[in-house]
Amino acid sequence: MIKYIPVLNNTYKFVTKFIFITGGVVSSLGKGIVAASLGSILESRDLSVSVIKLDPYINVDPGTMSPSQHGEVFVTHDGAETDLDLGHYERFVNYKTSQFSNYTTGQIYDCVLKKERKGEYLGSTVQVIPHITDQIKENIIQGSFDKDVCIVEIGGTVGDIESLPFIEAIRQIGVEYGKNIVTYIHLTLVPYIKAANEIKTKPTQHSVKELRSIGIQPDILICRSEKEINSNDKKKIALFTNVEARAVINSIDVDDIYEIPLILHNQGLDDIIVEKLGLKCKQTSLQSWENYKKKRNNINKNICIQIIAKYGNYTESYKSLNEAVKHAGVHTGVNVEIQYVDAEKLNDNNLNILDKADGIIVPGGFGERGIEGKISAIKYSREKNIPFLGICLGMQAAVIEFSRNVCKLKGANSTEFNKKTKFPVIALIEEWLDKTGSVEHRDINSDIGGTMRLGEQECIVNSDSNIFKAYNAKSIFERHRHRFEFNNEFRELLESSGLFVSGTSIDGTLVEVVEIKDHKWFLGCQFHPEFTSKPTIGHPLFNSFISAAKRNNEE
Ligand code: GLN
Repeated sequence: MIKYIPVLNNTYKFVTKFIFITGGVVSSLGKGIVAASLGSILESRDLSVSVIKLDPYINVDPGTMSPSQHGEVFVTHDGAETDLDLGHYERFVNYKTSQFSNYTTGQIYDCVLKKERKGEYLGSTVQVIPHITDQIKENIIQGSFDKDVCIVEIGGTVGDIESLPFIEAIRQIGVEYGKNIVTYIHLTLVPYIKAANEIKTKPTQHSVKELRSIGIQPDILICRSEKEINSNDKKKIALFTNVEARAVINSIDVDDIYEIPLILHNQGLDDIIVEKLGLKCKQTSLQSWENYKKKRNNINKNICIQIIAKYGNYTESYKSLNEAVKHAGVHTGVNVEIQYVDAEKLNDNNLNILDKADGIIVPGGFGERGIEGKISAIKYSREKNIPFLGICLGMQAAVIEFSRNVCKLKGANSTEFNKKTKFPVIALIEEWLDKTGSVEHRDINSDIGGTMRLGEQECIVNSDSNIFKAYNAKSIFERHRHRFEFNNEFRELLESSGLFVSGTSIDGTLVEVVEIKDHKWFLGCQFHPEFTSKPTIGHPLFNSFISAAKRNNEE
């Protein structure tokens, strides 16, 4: 039976059930992974699922936050630059996140202030409650997309000043919609004290007390711990927190995050939710996670992939890339050791550190720092026949390297790094058609954020290429995030010297993929394949690259 209930501004909509996930005690407990795992389990029961991340920070545009502080910027299919947690969701669930899946405090306030400027509040005093909280609720409803279940993760830790309006908004949703529509999950830490050889439940008790003081009684607790929490401890936690003992779930530390769906399901998490929310659905089937685990446990070969990077000391900056490489390892039967090589420290005299690599990746990036080191590494992999994958900036650097060293265009560069270069092989293209067919203008004076080619676009590939072999398709869709493009003025020259343009935009005007044929595997793509890799199947391009690296290792 489809039920309709009134929502804000008195419209009626299909009832989506909401699961709100908060965190307590400390940050970094993995709320995103729990949310994503839960989404995956519920999808396996044939429920449609949407996911939303609410971020308490003030930034309006996560796309402009430094990856070295905040981790990678994840790009959604519709071109939103978002928090890296959305990447976790997409690795676990089939649901594609979008610009409606991530809201920051800054965006909520921005929206409210714009409404106030337009006079929409009719001169009333604009306040956190109700105006900010109403806006949060509106955005949650909007991002839920009428799915059976919407999982909403609230960033930060309960008790933080910043997250209070979000917590208040989800409390209100609980009151307005009723208990069978809303479930609250609270994620806490249960530490193990070595000296006493005991786990401690007190921080969890306090965290729940804090949450209850803001008006939310959690229905389910997920307790992160190093040591297993036994049933007596679960009972104790239950007693002190007013949660049923069976709803105290232990998320024990694991080597591999992709085991978490199995761990949560084995303790009955999804059954409790289905029962509580009255969801009509089939039994859980986690076959794809079981298969993944089996494959992973059967690996007996190691290979080494070197990533030539700018943020080498902070691997969260390349989160999706790391994961995509690991997924491909599992699906090609190898354990991939990922080594970061600081691009700034590389020069023509120390390139032999790359000899350890069975394959080399130059990832995406912005700015000049480390670019010459990246170009040297590409020259090395081209000349030494080491499998190479260049992503976005990595592809652009491969084009620069080829122009300089094969076509002898001395000083060839991207206008991102040298505006006056005589050979601007990578440049801003002043005009291009976006996927809706409308013309966008980009030139040197355009606003940085507003002029990127962003989101999923189609690429047509040549059937005699590595890219075709990887995808086994002539048309592929991948996500973009860049301003600069291959400059077609040089295309003929580069192609006649052996650079193979194996993929372009549908109209043929934008170069999307370049390869070198007389090489074990050398490919640069203007898009970011790492954003669409899933552990359960791997990504075709990474699977193909890692297979080439494996063959290289065996030779
Ligand atoms: N800096 C390059 C550009 O803007 C590449 C961007 C990227 O690697 N994502 O075109």
